[in-house]
Amino acid sequence: MTKPSYVRVIIDRAIHRELDYAVPEGLMDRVGVGSRVRVPFRDKSALGTVVAVTEQSEAKGIRPIEAVVGEAPILSERLLELGRWIGAYYCCPIETVMRSLLPQVIRRAEIGWKKQLFVQPAGKIDVEDLEKLRRRAPRQAELLDAILRLESPIRASELLRQTSLDNQTLRALVKRGLVELREEAVVRDPHADEQFIATSNLTLNPEQTDALNEIRQALDWPENSRPILLHGVTGSGKTEIYLQAIRAALDRGQTAIVLVPEISLTPQTVERFKSRFAEAQDAVAVLHSHLSEGERHDEWYKIHSGRARIVIGARSAVFAPLKNLGLIVVDEEHETTYKQEEAPRYHARDVAIVRARIEKCVVVLGSATPSLESYNNAAIGKYRLVTLTQRIDEKQMPLIRIVDLRQERRKEKAAAILSEKLRAAIADRMEKGEQTILFLNRRGFSTSLLCSNCGEARNCPNCSVALTFHRHPAVAGRLSCHLCGHTAAVPKKCPACGQDALIYAGFGTEKVESTVSQIFPKAVVRRMDADSMTRKEAYRETLREFRTGKIDILLGTQMIAKGLHFPNVTLVGIINADLALHLPDFRAGERTFQLLTQVAGRAGRGETSGEVFVQTYTPFSPSIQFARHHDFAGYFQQELEFRERCDFPPFKHAILITVRSAHEGRAKLSAETLRRRLKEALPQEFILGDATPAPLEKLQGQFRFHILIRGEAIMRLSRLVRETVDKLPFPEDVIVTVDVDPYQLL
Ligand code: ADP
Ligand code: ZN
Repeated sequence: MTKPSYVRVIIDRAIHRELDYAVPEGLMDRVGVGSRVRVPFRDKSALGTVVAVTEQSEAKGIRPIEAVVGEAPILSERLLELGRWIGAYYCCPIETVMRSLLPQVIRRAEIGWKKQLFVQPAGKIDVEDLEKLRRRAPRQAELLDAILRLESPIRASELLRQTSLDNQTLRALVKRGLVELREEAVVRDPHADEQFIATSNLTLNPEQTDALNEIRQALDWPENSRPILLHGVTGSGKTEIYLQAIRAALDRGQTAIVLVPEISLTPQTVERFKSRFAEAQDAVAVLHSHLSEGERHDEWYKIHSGRARIVIGARSAVFAPLKNLGLIVVDEEHETTYKQEEAPRYHARDVAIVRARIEKCVVVLGSATPSLESYNNAAIGKYRLVTLTQRIDEKQMPLIRIVDLRQERRKEKAAAILSEKLRAAIADRMEKGEQTILFLNRRGFSTSLLCSNCGEARNCPNCSVALTFHRHPAVAGRLSCHLCGHTAAVPKKCPACGQDALIYAGFGTEKVESTVSQIFPKAVVRRMDADSMTRKEAYRETLREFRTGKIDILLGTQMIAKGLHFPNVTLVGIINADLALHLPDFRAGERTFQLLTQVAGRAGRGETSGEVFVQTYTPFSPSIQFARHHDFAGYFQQELEFRERCDFPPFKHAILITVRSAHEGRAKLSAETLRRRLKEALPQEFILGDATPAPLEKLQGQFRFHILIRGEAIMRLSRLVRETVDKLPFPEDVIVTVDVDPYQLL
């Protein structure tokens, strides 16, 4: 058998090419597809990933690889295939895809396992020796006693902590030859201190049983199965179905991935999974953005080595290197945070669908408010639709009441924050000892500082948005920009006209907090938003306090909108339902519908039924009306008609090109030139928009222009766009980004 002697390598740096290298004799046994290698590149060396192993190469001037990094290949051929699909679909070079496919800590291979010293007795210890030691060195004897009582070796640091003795005493025992120290790799487990009490399967209700059977059948014949869309109202027991479906996959000797939005990856969620599979300590790996590099390294290898069989994580967990993958669950599949907003700009749900196809495994998308794209795929038969129409234990869906702020404002100006009706409802809950959630998707105290004389607002010098006034101590009484972090002092007079006529307008969560505290002085009110939750533990603590009833009113931004389950919450108030509706985004209506439904779903999850107040200036907008009646199908139908009329997804794919530069003229000119080239390159079937200033014209000091293209054949469109962009020489300070299936249209 001839041994392969060449490898094709993708270098980590952006060169848009794959290069061939020779493999020296001594390294041949250690290289395979997916190996990490160090190779000469120009006059330096670089890291790269092997993507093919061959016996021949046509390339000229081939140089040998310098070293193999790490032990085994770390990327499977299937994941590599997935990476190539992402590159082609999302219009992105493969080396950029690699950055997401492999976490940096794994690619660089600079961090290894954490080593720690373990203590154990050195063979049999003579009783006489011990007695002698007791007299001469009592503290050493005390430590030795503790060591002799051990059933297994213990970490030196742990031993010293338990006995309150010092390192010197331990070293002395080692010197006497009475105890041994051994270095061992330990796993950095962020959940090591937690105890998970095993839970067992709940008895499913008939709807859940049918849903689980669908998934089981798919597990039996994954080749013939379509992706399953599990549409279940909030509180219908979707998570229980995931848990039992995973169990079914494990029973078949397979592994599973569960994707959840970062924001729902709460301790509560992790606990539900860790507890159900508590029989195997290591079985569940958790991947999220707050892991330290060391923890990420350990979790990743725990998955790669096959010790972890279930991975639960945010977006990037879709790339978890599990073998024998049987099931991928994408919970809350409609969530926009599944879309990565930097290159590669992939959507984890869509990547999950493709990975499932490559791995021939089952994929389940779950949501109470499926995205229009997914629901449409179910409607046309691409996905299999499974529905749960009932909440568990026949709990009622909460009653949704619409409060027309136009009328309320006529009665009383302050009503814009808390209408009379919502106030009465909160008072009622306070009396009954029940809890309230108030939701407002806007941070800060006042959202702008206006001059009542000349009308000028204080805008960010770097971005085209108004500065928000914060009272919060971190920015104490200053104006700040939520986009770039710029802060400024509050001027005494209007800098534009010199008049002493400045007024605060608009309100955010801080203002709501102070208003609520004023109206309900006895209530314990807690605010949960990016400003109040800066400490790592704060989120967890606040949720615990809320669960144990120490907080009466929890108020916050989307942080509290999703996935939380508090039985004693019987009232949810949505302070302003219109915020998302007026964004210049074709998904604005969809997002409002989803948000209302999800927030409303936090109410009435316990014994008493729930009530929701939605405050709005546009009470008759379809998103609000359909959400009010829990009518997903009705909402879907009308939204679908709108999308079809306007050639938006799911009828056409969209590609958004952003051209930006600190120099306005250059950005504009480049965008217009690119538009002209696209016009020449794209066939008629594609709808090419003009080069226009982006809705957010200026961001972080850069002027931004947009070109929106729509069409059906997305792979073809992607390729043509890539070729056109690559051919154009843009000025150095002009940055062009291409976003396929964009979610961020600002
Ligand atoms: P969803 O994910 O659809 O919002 P969950 O899975 O969180 O719903 O379920 C809501 C609550 O109902 C949870 O407390 C869960 O433990 C409970 N539950 C789910 N299925 C059952 C069942 N078959 N029997 C009893 N309780 C259940
Ligand atoms: Zn700014």
